[in-house]
Amino acid sequence: MDGQVKQKIKTIKVDLDKCNGCRACEIACAAYHATPKYSNFNPARSRVRMVIDERNDEWVAIRATDYTKAGCDGRRTYTINGKEYSECSFCGSVCPTRDLFKEPDSGLPLKCDMCEGEEVPMCVQICSRDALTYEEKEVHEEPAETVKLNEMEIGLKSLIDQYGVQKLTDTFARMLQK
Ligand code: SF4
Ligand code: SF4
Repeated sequence: MDGQVKQKIKTIKVDLDKCNGCRACEIACAAYHATPKYSNFNPARSRVRMVIDERNDEWVAIRATDYTKAGCDGRRTYTINGKEYSECSFCGSVCPTRDLFKEPDSGLPLKCDMCEGEEVPMCVQICSRDALTYEEKEVHEEPAETVKLNEMEIGLKSLIDQYGVQKLTDTFARMLQK
């Protein structure tokens, strides 16, 4: 195990049979991440969203994952209980081809941070149906070569992709002069 590092893997398991689509998880996530905390309950700001098909009573909790500059160019569809779903329905990526997981005012990407600092994530705590189960495990792996971006860096990266470095630098300079 020489040279290997311990890595904590955090997961949330979703039991579709238990979920009744109450959407309390969305509200809890949005409220927890509001500034100041619990000042806003808008599900559009949540990092977990329900994919809903009301006709077939399908409710699936999807958590926001990484920001991506481009959409996928080859997509699959899945048939579940006779109903066809696009791969996008189950995808947590923040991509240019849809509005999901973008902060409604700024358009900046939202990402699930597992409620950093909480022993059990808020969406899991609030779920009265036990449809969400939090699990942690430790794995040993080679040190990562890539640097993990924090939330602010992800936001800046998306702004750079959208407007370019020069425009962003000019804007910062203008703001600092005020
Ligand atoms: S809180 Fe639980 S039951 Fe309600 S929508 Fe979320 S996962 Fe489903
Ligand atoms: S773990 Fe926390 S940040 Fe992630 S979806 Fe659940 S409430 Fe939101």
